[in-house]
Parts: sequence; structure tokens; C-alpha cells
Amino acid sequence: MTDFLFKSASELAELLRSGELTSTDLTTACLDRIDALEGRVHAFLHVDREGALATAAKVDQARAAGDELHPLAGVPIAIKDNMVTRAVPTTCASKILDGWLPPYDATVIEKIKEAGLPIVGKTNMDEFAMGSSTEHSAFGPTRNPWDLERIPGGSGGGSAAAVAAFMVPLALGSDTGGSIRQPGSVTGTVGVKPTYGAVSRYGLIAMASSLDQIGPVTRTVEDAALLQELIGGHDPRDSTSLPEPLDSLTAAVKNGEMDLKGVRVGIVRELTGEGYEPGVVSVFDAAVDYLRSRGAEIVEVSCPNFDYALAAYYLIMPAEVSSNLARFDGMRYGLRVEPDEGPITSERVMAASRGAGFGDEVKRRIILGTHVLSAGYFDAYYGSAQKVRTLVQRDFDAAFDQVDVLVSPTAPTTAFKFGEKVDDVMAMYLNDIATIPANLAGVPAMSVPAGLSDGLPVGFQIIAPARRDDAMYRVARAVEMMEDVAGQCPAKDWNGEA
Ligand code: GLN
Repeated sequence: MTDFLFKSASELAELLRSGELTSTDLTTACLDRIDALEGRVHAFLHVDREGALATAAKVDQARAAGDELHPLAGVPIAIKDNMVTRAVPTTCASKILDGWLPPYDATVIEKIKEAGLPIVGKTNMDEFAMGSSTEHSAFGPTRNPWDLERIPGGSGGGSAAAVAAFMVPLALGSDTGGSIRQPGSVTGTVGVKPTYGAVSRYGLIAMASSLDQIGPVTRTVEDAALLQELIGGHDPRDSTSLPEPLDSLTAAVKNGEMDLKGVRVGIVRELTGEGYEPGVVSVFDAAVDYLRSRGAEIVEVSCPNFDYALAAYYLIMPAEVSSNLARFDGMRYGLRVEPDEGPITSERVMAASRGAGFGDEVKRRIILGTHVLSAGYFDAYYGSAQKVRTLVQRDFDAAFDQVDVLVSPTAPTTAFKFGEKVDDVMAMYLNDIATIPANLAGVPAMSVPAGLSDGLPVGFQIIAPARRDDAMYRVARAVEMMEDVAGQCPAKDWNGEA
């Protein structure tokens, strides 16, 4: 029996330590489950059976030899396909990178390899992390294990679905405007966007560099803390990396188990109520009541400039996208397409390769970004958006003078159906309404499952001041104690063929 797959990473690590389970057996079970369920879920773009089993065997040997190992050694993990993995395909779910084999590992991958976590594969996503549903993947969408007719969120829907469907206990995502937290919300998983700079971005294929951050995707808050501690820390190869380590996250999780006396929790007025589904609001309200019952002091705070955060994001982000994606020129990486007729010049190869290699959403953002940066429009669009960004940061500063953490629903709705929003660009962008402010300010934020609405998971967002990820984890652990949402996923009963 492979019931151990339903356990958390920290419980699995304990079984590995005590010798009740080997990493080879655990990794094999994950890979077999991926094989059995991929037909319905499609969480992966690439599965690396051989690589994962080689790591597992090495860890088992080292353990047998009595070597000192990392606490998570031997526990399998999946990686969003926008983090480079040496000699293992990395596509960002784009045709333009089809066939590219990176020559190096991202810093987070180096750390995971050093710690001995078998990497089972690379997960599906919206192309170049642009979207909220994985419907913009060039290789077909991922389905939500809670309801296969529904989206798993995006852009990191593959990592969230793999963890929710018990294919793997741990995954990494990246969050530019909510791509870890919103998938977490709609799949009943824990998703964390750490403080900007707390985790190295070296080797993360850039979407919008001033907003991008790598973070954990797990089924428990403790697992997320363990994983963030593993991947975090200063990296001289990332110039925005924080010099000092954060306070202990695992200790904060333990604290959250006691009580929340003295913790001031602020409900952001602008991030609840109108525009949020009633079922989402009632799960949110119940979670707030629960926090109060655990000793937290609840107050309402106002962040008036959050009303403009979405608009500012959809100017700043495409501006950065247009410059970051200029490197995909048909010559240095992946796809190269030559024009059908006429001379082969570098410009014509570039145009043909980008025309064939990028999907519609990526093209839309490159065009928008180029436009807002162009002479004559720069001040009106990009300049104003940067001012809004400063005002959002000031709203956070003022709010954190009054409270320790801020809370809101993570997303305005539960998982929606395929096709419902994909042709309505505004409706898709509105999914990010509650997650974007944290990216604009660089502060940590996470989504933790708080309950169900009509049988679908609802995420609760906790936002903390920069470098106070610990405060966020403490409150998240308390929310998690309300109800085991991840454990109710219907995928628990799937075993074998579709
Ligand atoms: N949904 C957002 C977008 O489409 C978030 C993307 C992200 O965080 N990578 O831009």
C-alpha cells in the first residue's frame, strides 16, 4: 500500500529517518502515481524518473552509511518549469523554449540537490507565468484535482495540482502577481510568496524582475516553512538578494500552535466585500472569527490605494516583460524559425521565431509593455504606475503601524470552469486583485486553505511586513488548525487508471 503518499513532507521525512521507508520506495510511489494520474490532471511537462531515482538511491546509501542529512533529504519535489535545471528540459510552457537544455542550475535547484531531494519533474504553467488558469500553456492546461472541469489556478497550476493530487508532497512555484497563492487558493494547498529577496531568483526565467519571487507549494504550513528555510538565504548571484537571514519560520509555526494572544490582525477593507463571491466571504469571515477565538485582536484597516494596484501592475509588469523577453531571439535558445521566403537576416529570423514561438497572451503583454515604455507615453503610463506603486507601499507602511499582519481572501472566487474567462482578458486579470499589492510592495504573503464553498477550496491570505515572514507563518498555522482542507481532495480516492 502507498497510503504514505497522503502524509506531509515532514511526516515522510520522519519515516525516512526512522528507517520505516526508503527514499527509493517513496520516490517510486510518487512517480507511479504521477504516471497513473497524469492522463486526467496533466500537472507535468517533463517527468525525470531516472534523475529522481538516482538521487533517492544516493540518499538511501548515505543514510545507511550514517551520514548527516538535511531534514528533508529523500523527500521528492516538483519544480515549476520556469526554473532552470541543468540538462533537464525547461520550457516555461512556451514553444519558444521547446528543446532547450539549460547549461546550469538555478540557485534553488542547487540547494535542493545539495539537500538530497529527488526532483520528480517540471510542472505545467501559463506560458512565461502569464495567466491565472494554465489555459495559456502552449502544451495544454492542467486540470484541478477537486473538479476536472475546472482550472487549477495560474500561472503555477501544475505545481499546485501535483501537490493537491498527492503526486508529490512538495513543489516550487513563482509569484509575480499571485501565481503561487491563487493556485493554492483554488486547489486547497498552501502557497507562499516570501519577502522579495528572501529567496534567490538566480536561474528563475524572469517575467517581471522587480515582482518575481520563488516560493513553496505544500499541503501543510509546517512543510512550507521547512521548504522556505531550505531554499532561502543570501545569494551573491542575485543582486536583490537580502543580506541577512530571516527569523526562524519553523519556530513561528510552533508558536502558531499555542495561541495568538497579542497578535493584531488587520482586515483590509478594500480586499473583501464587493466583487468577492459570497461563499468565499463566508469562509473568510469564519476564519477571522476563529483567529479571534484563538486570542488575536481583529481590527479593520483601510489601504485606499489598493484600488489602483491592479491597474499599476498591468503597466509595470508588461513593461518588464517586454524587456525581459527580448532575449528570446531565435538564436540563443530553443526554437529557430526561418522565414518561408526572402533573405535570411537576423531580424527576419527573430520575427519569424517570435511569431511562431510565443502565444497570444505573451504577445499581448510584450506589445502593451513596449507601448507603455515608448517615448511620449512613458510618463503617462509607466511613470504614473510607479507612483501608484509607492502609494501602495505607503498604505502597507501605515497599516503595519497598526497591526502585525493583514488578511483577506486570496482570490475573489473558487476555481472557475475552463473557457469561462480565457477570452475575457479583464475577467482573467481580476483574479489577481487581492494578491498583487504584496508583489508591488515586496512584502511576504501566503495563502492557506480555510474551508470549502460548494465543495471547492477557499484560500485565506495573510500578508506581513517585509522580512517578517515568521509573523505570517504563525498566523497561517493557526488558520490551518481549523480544518484539514487538503486531506478532503477527491483525488485521495483515485488510485490507478482514469
Ligand atoms: N495572474 C497574474 C498574471 O497573469 C500573475 C502572474 C504571476 O504571478 N506569475 O500576471
